Amino acid sequence: MSDVHKVVIVGSGPAGYTAAIYTARAGLQPVVLAGEVTAGGALMNTTEVENYPGFPEGIMGPDLMTNMAAQAERFGADIRYEDVTSMDLKASPKVVSTDDDTYLADYVIVATGSQYRHLNVEGEERLAGHGVSYCATCDGFFFKDQEIAVIGGGDSAMEEATFLTKFASKVYVIHRRDELRASKVMAERAHSNDKIEFVWNSVVEEVNGDKAVESLTLKSTVDGSLSQLPVSGVFVAIGHDPRTSLVKTQLDLDTAGYIVVDEPSTRTSLDHVYACGDVVDHTYRQAITAAGSGCRAALDVTKALEADA
Ligand code: NAP
Repeated sequence: MSDVHKVVIVGSGPAGYTAAIYTARAGLQPVVLAGEVTAGGALMNTTEVENYPGFPEGIMGPDLMTNMAAQAERFGADIRYEDVTSMDLKASPKVVSTDDDTYLADYVIVATGSQYRHLNVEGEERLAGHGVSYCATCDGFFFKDQEIAVIGGGDSAMEEATFLTKFASKVYVIHRRDELRASKVMAERAHSNDKIEFVWNSVVEEVNGDKAVESLTLKSTVDGSLSQLPVSGVFVAIGHDPRTSLVKTQLDLDTAGYIVVDEPSTRTSLDHVYACGDVVDHTYRQAITAAGSGCRAALDVTKALEADA
């Protein structure tokens, strides 16, 4: 425990790092608690980002995040690769603790993003890391020439399935409806890939296997019938939930569990606490919109500090 920082930013996706760039440029010397293994957020697990403005040829997700971190550090942001274990946001100053240290802050920006949604079916947890994965870029390599499945019908599922065809001999995309949620461009890319086969109107009832995934039990959403699909891997890509476990008893959340902010401001229900990025946004959830809201949080905090002075 030491000095009281003007601002501590919790989280290091596009929202957290953009908040860091702006607050650092405003001379606020932000401390960014970036997380130990999750630093950089969800984009660390993606491949090419084609729609982030300014990169006409696209940029790899991890490169984009490394660049953002370097840009924040260039202006004086203090990035610490530590996991936050608790926050007392009602205290004054605010208290943010990690395994290594305790930070005091006049203002806190919460940019904790979202986490992979689980299927919550039998066998999923037991075989996690043994054929069940939530990250194609992390684990795809292990499924060379094998038949695997991707669960979901959104952009994430299409992106994962397309990427996985680099390794797998066949990729089944299992979706609970007969129409994709994914954007047209991503859906078309998956549809035109010979290695991808869609299994419509189906949900996973159970992930089967002794020490590793051997098959999925699928249930038809039309007539409830069960079938077996032999696969050695399953990638779950059914969306994300906001990461609010450390703040949910302190800040107002909406019915879906996202932090409520006083739009268009990023102010939360507690004084001196602001929130931005995917932990707030269940509508757009893009890197660029997260970055935009990180910018807004930084400007809100900068203005509030000026008003305090
Ligand atoms: P999403 O758009 O919420 O899609 C989740 C998919 O999973 C939906 O098809 C949903 O089915 C299905 N699903 C949800 N819960 C399920 C369950 N329990 N069992 C079976 N299926 C389930 O999530 P996302 O694909 O992760 O995308 C999130 C956001 O990131 C979107 O805004 C997306 O555009 C963006 N994104 C963009 C890119 C890109 O542009 N490169 C890449 C990835 C993600 P229903 O359709 O029936 O609801």
